[in-house]
Amino acid sequence: MSLKLLDEFHDPKLCRGLLDRLHSLVDREFRFMEVCGTHTVAIFQSGLRSLLPEQVVHLSGPGCPVCVTHESEVNAFIDLAERDDVVVATFGDLMRVPGSRGRSLKKAQADGARVEVVYSPPDALKLAADNPDKTVVFLGVGFETTAPTVAGTLLMAREQGLTNFRVLSFHKLVPPALGALMADPEVRIDAFIMPGHVSAIIGVEPYRAVADQFGKSSAVTGFEPADILGSLVYLVERWKEGKPAAANLYPRVVRDGGNAKARAVMDQVFQTTDALWRGLGMIPNSGLELRPEFEQFDAKKWFGLEIEECPALPGCRCGDVLKGKLRPDQCPLFKKACTPANPVGPCMVSTEGSCAAYFKYSMD
Ligand code: SF4
Repeated sequence: MSLKLLDEFHDPKLCRGLLDRLHSLVDREFRFMEVCGTHTVAIFQSGLRSLLPEQVVHLSGPGCPVCVTHESEVNAFIDLAERDDVVVATFGDLMRVPGSRGRSLKKAQADGARVEVVYSPPDALKLAADNPDKTVVFLGVGFETTAPTVAGTLLMAREQGLTNFRVLSFHKLVPPALGALMADPEVRIDAFIMPGHVSAIIGVEPYRAVADQFGKSSAVTGFEPADILGSLVYLVERWKEGKPAAANLYPRVVRDGGNAKARAVMDQVFQTTDALWRGLGMIPNSGLELRPEFEQFDAKKWFGLEIEECPALPGCRCGDVLKGKLRPDQCPLFKKACTPANPVGPCMVSTEGSCAAYFKYSMD
């Protein structure tokens, strides 16, 4: 992608034209959800939020990987990290996410647990090779974007004959979460901006079901101002026509059919399972677990882990924020007990979390 081409998506004249079109179209409340946390941040960073028509209500969704990782899952990460025979390997954004016992991996690490931040799943293989007397467990969180790389890493581990490498898979799938959101009668959404990164893997087809079953339009879009404005114009036009549809408005990155090769690797290693989502609860077939052929790499089976649903963090309203029922600044703890320096919930921890985005950018 050349910088020149990217500049075109910031072009003031183009953005002004799209904004004018949007203002001319919207004549009543229009509630859109951006599923992905990166879109939340992009909307704030670009200054678009203050330029949108007043009737456009902007909701954040369940698309921040660490925000939807359930408290019980975080507890399981910490329990593993505290074992003497384990080295936990994780992406850095999971470090400060609290479990239900007021502890995080960061706190466990400070108390002596061996927790290593890695930049990619294959880095965890090197850790395993360097620590033959320990079991290295990679914490598998995230959506369809991350799962293929973790699957590829497991194939590499098998090829290398590593016997001390495991994955604790709490990967989640976006389409079932959209279905769960739509099934909640308290959730009011007119249309969706779909995540660019996840869609690069799954394509546009799953979103057609959202249009057909729930009558809600979706647009897969990029992260530049013209991307976002163009998608909003598209969504409002479909909404006014009363013709729900799904479109790929990000063809410079996303193919309509997604990435078949990445899905094949993911399918080779993982199978779907029911999964616990923070705030959304148990959603059938919304998670990924290792297939029986890979059970020697499955940390859940190896350590006999039982993941039981624990209560939500007291006072934290992340669940309602992730469902678009509550704006972050409507949480009683926002900017008081809960700040990025002292986060109560994961939505304030992650750079993709909507509470953190509101804290950093919102002037409301
Ligand atoms: Fe949870 Fe803090 Fe967000 Fe409130 S402001 S929902 S406590 S993360």
